[in-house]
Amino acid sequence: MNRFTETDQNCNCGCGLNLAPRHPRFLQALTTARELAGVPFVINSWTRCERHNKAVGGEEASSHLKGCAVDIGCKDSATRWKILHALMMAGFSRIGIGKTFLHADMDGEKPAGVVWLY
Ligand SMILES: [Zn+2]
Repeated sequence: MNRFTETDQNCNCGCGLNLAPRHPRFLQALTTARELAGVPFVINSWTRCERHNKAVGGEEASSHLKGCAVDIGCKDSATRWKILHALMMAGFSRIGIGKTFLHADMDGEKPAGVVWLY
């Protein structure tokens, strides 16, 4: 199985920040989820620097700032189900549902067992 690339993990502003290597358990769970889902994971956002997080309207305490959060693009209900189910099976307990993406993070400083909407 292909690994997630630096392009997936780096901040989208071009600053080169990549905090994903700090979170091996997150990386492993995300890899497992992708295998279970059987569909490509289009990573819209992973690591964010402070400046980029502000620029895209991220929350002040966004888990993207730590590199333990992803937004996965998904635009139809069947793909959404596959990814959502796989994320939960892989052990993710913090999931956000947007119209065109799913957010998943493993942030130990925030409540587990939550699904929210954007
Ligand atoms: Zn940046």
